[in-house]
Amino acid sequence: MLVVKKFGGTSVANKERIYNVANRCIEEYKKGNDVVVVLSAMGKYTDELITMAKDINENPPKREMDMLYTIGEQMSVALMAMAMNKLGVPAISLNAFQVAMHTTSVYGNARLKRIDAERIRNELEQRKIVIITGFQGINKYDDYTTLGRGGSDTTAVALAAALHADKCEIYTDVDGVYTADPRKVKNARKLDTVTYDEMLELATLGAGVLHNRSVELAKKFGVQLVVRSSLNNNEGTVVKEDTKMEKMIVSGVAADADAARVAVVGLKDEPGVAFKLFNLLAKKNINVDMILQSIGRHGTKDITFTCSQEDADEAKAVIAEAMECEDVDVNKDVAKVSIVGAGMQTNAGVAAKMFEALYDENINIRMISTSEIRVTVLIDAKNVERAMNSIHDKFDLGEK
Ligand code: ASP
Ligand code: MG
Repeated sequence: MLVVKKFGGTSVANKERIYNVANRCIEEYKKGNDVVVVLSAMGKYTDELITMAKDINENPPKREMDMLYTIGEQMSVALMAMAMNKLGVPAISLNAFQVAMHTTSVYGNARLKRIDAERIRNELEQRKIVIITGFQGINKYDDYTTLGRGGSDTTAVALAAALHADKCEIYTDVDGVYTADPRKVKNARKLDTVTYDEMLELATLGAGVLHNRSVELAKKFGVQLVVRSSLNNNEGTVVKEDTKMEKMIVSGVAADADAARVAVVGLKDEPGVAFKLFNLLAKKNINVDMILQSIGRHGTKDITFTCSQEDADEAKAVIAEAMECEDVDVNKDVAKVSIVGAGMQTNAGVAAKMFEALYDENINIRMISTSEIRVTVLIDAKNVERAMNSIHDKFDLGEK
């Protein structure tokens, strides 16, 4: 059996943790399995590299950032190989060049295109544990690229697909995927399984356990994932295609505090206004999430949308400059709360039940948006925890 195991930064943050991971991998190896290990940079090392870079140049070239980032992962894999060797097990570390992990050319946000499996296979055949740098790749100019923050998960899934691995385990510092953030909802429960689509929604909503492109990739190639803790032996959460007849109506409640609401008041009520507005934002690379347009009255209308807090002021400035309107109002004291569940598609009244939970707590809804398996509301940031708990209780998601 071939197993890919990925360990995040907290799992390799210091000497003890590195030996802990080494031992876990050796345990798997001693069962006779082929073991491929993917590592992130130690602890918060990637953040430290950013701080160092910004200290030198507040606007560093993206190519040089990637050049810098890659040392973080290279450091962890080399140290891990040393630990395993010390424990008497043959191990070898490889970076993106040595493997040949080919990506698109975009620095800082490259996508994996192709992985050469030959070198890895050769090393495995010699009964070595192969330890590979996460997050990094190389492009057609023979330059290093990186896959975006949190990208080591994607490296692991891509390797599992390329090597036709039997198992892909993502080790982190929590026990798996929860019905809600346990720090906010006391009786949050660990889920045994979630579907790819549910996990994608949760990852996009900032649930934080998996890089969302890793989930896309896992779905595309049918790689079953297990998310589990590196600090204990608990079972974790399996992410896979939904096979159950009885799908969970709601699997989890997620919150995203990084939201701002921009209200553009008194726009002309005529064709092309929405196009002009959102085209302005697109040109500035500002991502818009929820959108609401009011009914026209006296020849004017309002358009309200949400974006990240970082982008809100810039959005306001470009709109105020280029659009004919009465006012642009920005509110950053808002947050998104969402419910996610594959069973929503076939069950009526799910949204109503969520709104009832908010009404129970007298929480006002400012905006609503939905997808097939998600309902999201925008509410005042101060109400987030109360909203999450009320919704979690209403759908009876907690520990029984
Ligand atoms: N070290 C990189 C980061 O901090 C990649 C990862 O951890 O997945 O974003
Ligand atoms: Mg991560």
